[in-house]
Amino acid sequence: MKKKSLAAMVTSAVMVMAMLTGCGSGETQATAQAAEPSSAVESAEAAEPEAVEETGEEPAKDVAAADVQEIIDRGVLRVGVKNAVIGFGFQDELTGEYSGMEISLAEKIAESLGVDVEFTTVTAATRTELLDSGDIDCVLATFTITDERKESWDFSTPYYTDYVTVLVQKDSGITGLADLTDKKVGVSSGSTSARSLVAAMIENGVISGDGFDAETFDPVTWTDGISFAQYDDYPTISTALSAGEVDAFCVDKSILAVYHTDDRTYIDEKFAPQEYGVATKKGSGLSAYVDELVKGWLSDGTIDGLIAENGIE
Ligand code: GLU
Repeated sequence: MKKKSLAAMVTSAVMVMAMLTGCGSGETQATAQAAEPSSAVESAEAAEPEAVEETGEEPAKDVAAADVQEIIDRGVLRVGVKNAVIGFGFQDELTGEYSGMEISLAEKIAESLGVDVEFTTVTAATRTELLDSGDIDCVLATFTITDERKESWDFSTPYYTDYVTVLVQKDSGITGLADLTDKKVGVSSGSTSARSLVAAMIENGVISGDGFDAETFDPVTWTDGISFAQYDDYPTISTALSAGEVDAFCVDKSILAVYHTDDRTYIDEKFAPQEYGVATKKGSGLSAYVDELVKGWLSDGTIDGLIAENGIE
């Protein structure tokens, strides 16, 4: 059943695969093998005429062959994931096993390529360095798609939309954006969080916003009505919140969930939709390949199924 549904899910991706590689292994291989590079379109037409039209734009076909083929030859897709985001990327400390929708998506991409998957834990601060250096092939790590980031990396069609909010100690008395005036907020370096929070405070009339420029915004130098302390990872921010080093902890709600203990609460507002996409090297063949897969999984209900299975709202 798995095999059958996968085949249905990735029909268009298989077409890309056939064009890009002309070979493969596992489930994809069966279809891809039938398609020599020169006869890919012909084979694809026989299999699924509509899919050919979809992929007929030839997404970076020539460039693609090399990097996708390299992964196939290596036999392993190396993926950067989170290890403490419940429902997305979570690692069991005892077994070392990862679980969550981003883990399942990564496994499915690898399955489609006919290779194994290898996970590397990343943070907001390390994920792009590891992608740039070639240590990992792609990132599925609550990575928000932004115009600025799209200049440096490719992102798939979004597979999930989260929101930013703020976690505080219950005894702080902070309940909403207005209470954050003149407070110090812990954020992760490399994240969109501080900028999102300042934009939301401006929108809600809590601060004036004079001097705010989304493009040049820097959490370290911002002091108008709120200030920020940047940390390399989320456990450190959580510790800083307990220690009173910061008054609040701001990031996507999905990430905050694991730090939401009984003595803490979210503020009333959530803001700044965060669309998560699979990040790949800019212009790589893997970008087009993965995007086809994600689009297929969005339209056939696979992604909705993963959201439900992982208890995500
Ligand atoms: N999703 C947000 C971002 O990409 C928060 C940081 C994170 O994913 O850790 O900036």
